[in-house]
Amino acid sequence: MRFDVLTLFPELIQSHLDFSIMKRASEDGVIEVNAINPRDYTLDKHKKVDDTPYGGGAGMVLAPQPYVDCYEAVNKLDNSITIMMTPQGEPFTHAISQELAQYDQVIILCGHYEGIDQRVLDEIVDEEISIGDYVLTGGELPACIL
Ligand code: SAM
Repeated sequence: MRFDVLTLFPELIQSHLDFSIMKRASEDGVIEVNAINPRDYTLDKHKKVDDTPYGGGAGMVLAPQPYVDCYEAVNKLDNSITIMMTPQGEPFTHAISQELAQYDQVIILCGHYEGIDQRVLDEIVDEEISIGDYVLTGGELPACIL
């Protein structure tokens, strides 16, 4: 089963694979995890990836261009699903993990700041999942849990 995680902090995802069962699953080829950084796809000369929300509102969101270009660079398998980790999503349960296990590929979007530009979510996300009723600074720990 393959996981492609879009994150500004790929090292956080990688470190999760260096220990225990996740390490064995990875080494045995049961899972393949790729962490990809949208910052590598930004066209901004200062490598900026954030912007003000398109529809207004406080704070900054992850801008659409780096995220969409990064997403399009992911090699998609036929049987794949795209998940956004977000505190507003459906609470993660064992039943959801069983549902996701039916896919050959799970693409996970990790937000930061106030999240990801809503237009990106409308375009590419199939499901929004929360790991609990609290707000973390980024989607990396939620992605590792999922
Ligand atoms: N006000 C924003 C919101 O409600 O989406 C807060 C964004 S939070 C500071 C930054 C990112 O962390 C989110 O876009 C999401 O990817 C992740 N995150 C934070 N809490 C989470 C949770 N409980 N479950 C899943 N992802 C979470």
